[in-house]
Amino acid sequence: MIPASGLRLLAGFCLLGAIGAVVAGAFALQAGRHLGADYSALAGDIVRAQEDTAELRLELDGLIDHAHHAWHMDRITSLVERIPERIRTIRVGLARSEINAADYAPMLAELTQAEGLYRRLASTLDTLAPSVGDDVRQLNRLGHELEGSLAWTYSRLLQEVHQAAADQQRLMTWLSLAVILLVLLVAAALMLALVRIHRQWLSLRQLSVTDELTQLANRRQLWEVAQRYLELNQRDGGELSLLLIDLDHFKRINDRYGHPAGDAVLQAVAAEFTRVARESDLVARLGGEEFAVLMPNTGTEGGRRLGERLREATADLPLPGEAREHRLTISLGLATTLAGREALAQLYSRADRCLYRAKQNGRNRLEINAQP
Ligand code: GH3
Ligand code: MG
Ligand code: MG
Repeated sequence: MIPASGLRLLAGFCLLGAIGAVVAGAFALQAGRHLGADYSALAGDIVRAQEDTAELRLELDGLIDHAHHAWHMDRITSLVERIPERIRTIRVGLARSEINAADYAPMLAELTQAEGLYRRLASTLDTLAPSVGDDVRQLNRLGHELEGSLAWTYSRLLQEVHQAAADQQRLMTWLSLAVILLVLLVAAALMLALVRIHRQWLSLRQLSVTDELTQLANRRQLWEVAQRYLELNQRDGGELSLLLIDLDHFKRINDRYGHPAGDAVLQAVAAEFTRVARESDLVARLGGEEFAVLMPNTGTEGGRRLGERLREATADLPLPGEAREHRLTISLGLATTLAGREALAQLYSRADRCLYRAKQNGRNRLEINAQP
């Protein structure tokens, strides 16, 4: 069963993934379309056509000045012959481009008109008698008309192409920024999720090794830490002492003052044990009204001193709430081991036997089992 926060996280990731897929898809589509549109080739075609029209104008002017010059006629003929091919190439380029057809429709209409002019000019060129002044003037007039129409159209088309190229550049910049932003967003979300998962893991782990009522370490943590000490001490040969503690006649407190009062007493005792024990000792609640103190690098004498302090402190401890008149005592069993001498289970069992003896011998006392 996935918890609600996990589901929310999953939904968040799905949403982010969907947005990412849409943006990446749009990016790929636009990139494919716009990178595929070769505006520089189209611009080159238009510029070459413009150069032809500029040259045509010069040649037409030259024809007036030197009417009999065959060289001008040849140039004009060759420039005019090129016009349909130039127009056709530009039409194809425009059709292939991503430029909105409505934007260049007026220019296409002008080109169609120019083609009509071209046909008239071409037939004039075929039938031209170069020696007749009227023919030359007609040729000149038609030629200039055609040249003017083409020059206007080409210059407007070039503007459109430049505009489209600039739009393409802008779009690619925005799309690239969007993709970068998205990648950063996904990375941030991932980091956030990892931090949350790590925090949850830490708090779960903390819960699994903590006693809920007293917030002391539980049996599992005591066991893990004791194992670690035994392994560590195997190298340096240190001693490890374990005190097992059981509250005397605790049942009476429950019976007299109720279970909640009993709980409050357990909490007060836990706090007192923590206060009396040293920083390096681990105080744990094993369950019920049984506690333990694990003392690293502590021999029998050190363990005995702490055990006595705990016993006296408990006897003097003012109990909370309704149990305040009650005097509580504890029984303790102490066992110490040299590292590597015995396993944790044996150490525990020796301390437990001492605790049993303390109960047998009248309670409110500490019994000791020196090293095995
Ligand atoms: P002894 O001196 O022989 O240890 O007597 P005792 O009454 O302390 O021992 P016994 O094991 O007979 O009773 C322990 C009691 O602790 C019984 C149980 O109701 C009580 N107890 C165990 N866990 C809790 C707890 O979490 N809260 C409370 N209030 N009582 C608990
Ligand atoms: Mg008990
Ligand atoms: Mg008891």
